[in-house]
Amino acid sequence: MSETRFDVIVLGAGPGGYLAAERLGHAGKKVLLIEEVALGGTCLNVGCIPTKTLLNGAKNYLHAKEAGQFGVDATGVTFDWARMQAWKDQVVSGLVGGVGAAERKAGVTVVNARGHLDGPGKVTAAGTTYTGDHVIVATGSVPAMPPLPGAADNPAVVDSTGILSLDQVPARLAVIGGGVIGVEFASLFSTLGSEVTVIEMAPEILPFMDDDMAAQLRKAMSDVTFELGCKVESLDGASVTYSKNGQSTTLEADVVLMAVGRRPATAGWGAEEAGLEINRGIVVDDRMRTNLPNVWAIGDVTGRSLLAHAAYRMGEIAAANISDPEAHRRGEVMRWHTVPWAVYCMPEAAGVGLTESQAKREGREVLVAKVPAQMSGRFIAENGFKAPGSAKIVVDPLTHQVLGVHVLGAYAAEMIWGAQAVLEMELTVEDLRQVVFPHPTVSEVIREAAWAVKL
Ligand SMILES: Cc1cc2nc3c(=O)[nH]c(=O)nc-3n(C[C@H](O)[C@H](O)[C@H](O)COP(=O)(O)OP(=O)(O)OC[C@H]3O[C@@H](n4cnc5c(N)ncnc54)[C@H](O)[C@@H]3O)c2cc1C
Repeated sequence: MSETRFDVIVLGAGPGGYLAAERLGHAGKKVLLIEEVALGGTCLNVGCIPTKTLLNGAKNYLHAKEAGQFGVDATGVTFDWARMQAWKDQVVSGLVGGVGAAERKAGVTVVNARGHLDGPGKVTAAGTTYTGDHVIVATGSVPAMPPLPGAADNPAVVDSTGILSLDQVPARLAVIGGGVIGVEFASLFSTLGSEVTVIEMAPEILPFMDDDMAAQLRKAMSDVTFELGCKVESLDGASVTYSKNGQSTTLEADVVLMAVGRRPATAGWGAEEAGLEINRGIVVDDRMRTNLPNVWAIGDVTGRSLLAHAAYRMGEIAAANISDPEAHRRGEVMRWHTVPWAVYCMPEAAGVGLTESQAKREGREVLVAKVPAQMSGRFIAENGFKAPGSAKIVVDPLTHQVLGVHVLGAYAAEMIWGAQAVLEMELTVEDLRQVVFPHPTVSEVIREAAWAVKL
């Protein structure tokens, strides 16, 4: 008879769940990982990885088209959507295979079924009841579908999963929602030639981004039409009717992407019946403990930060605190304010910590400096004198502690971890000025921003 008793049962194998399982397996725990769809979860199968693979194809296409200014003749460059899709599928299946291998190496037992939480320490999957000393809930999130007239069962409407496997690039794409997912797909399809309109209810795209950086990004994405402060009223096929200041407009498209956000997957697997406290997501403390004994929750399902790297860290924190009840004293707690974000549009954007706009809204005093990306020689060499890009730093006027760093332009996502470390270590702007940056690198714009602050 197969084993039904485990030290830890993990429900959901996205970045949060699979990494927690792996860490616990390596720590010598007997771990069961239950996943109903595919290892890797949203991120690997229909999120971070497939989008970035397609965006890289679009970026190569754009670079080839613009290569003339760098002395490279790539006239007549074209792209093949079917081959881009095939490459995306190859990347995804390779990485999913890698997760399976990593779990095996860590000695984790994987069950491919839908799990149901029957109470602390008890989970049923495919007719078998498993018991464990601890349960980690990592069921992720699902796309939100607003109850708009004409949206349900409309074949012209796709979500972020459906749009990944369109059989052709749409001539006209309407994107409802100007958050990360909406902006990334707008960037992808506009680069590939679609006529893209983003309809956003808020006065600016990317609500977590510094207002003037978001405006700069929007202007840089000049092929996309942004309709801000607009409320979508209804859909009729691929016609989208929205209103602004009481005036109604109908936009004709071929495909409509519903990208109004995602909601924590808290329903349908026993969370409420088991007595888990839910407030938007499953309520957790900074060690990822829920209100139920030995039931932990990590990743998107907590509703705290819907990002894969936040899920990884939450998974590590839960694993560390399960393995050692004193782990929190060694700093194994979630520090939500230092989670960086990145948007892989063209140009790329990334940030960590407080924005100037946020500080203003909170009535808080901050020192800020913003420098153009052209302060970096490498940026000019590789992007030109007029390419959009900038770096902004937000500093506490009394302690000089760095509170936020925001970057727009090539490699932004790759360099933001350095700024994250500055925030994590609570460094001052003077500390940051003493750091030696390699030259020439685009990351030098962060150093330039640090020197531009008037203390
Ligand atoms: C289009 C798109 C692009 C994105 N791009 C990025 C990006 O570039 N960077 C980034 O940081 N984040 C990105 N994200 C967000 C990222 O995918 C999520 O933050 C991340 O996947 C969350 O990880 P998770 O482990 O919490 O849950 P998920 O990855 O959602 O995994 C949860 C898993 O649990 C399984 N599950 C649910 N219920 C049950 C059950 N009852 N029994 C068994 N299994 C169950 C699901 O099948 C799923 O596999 C993107 C998301 C989307 C949709």
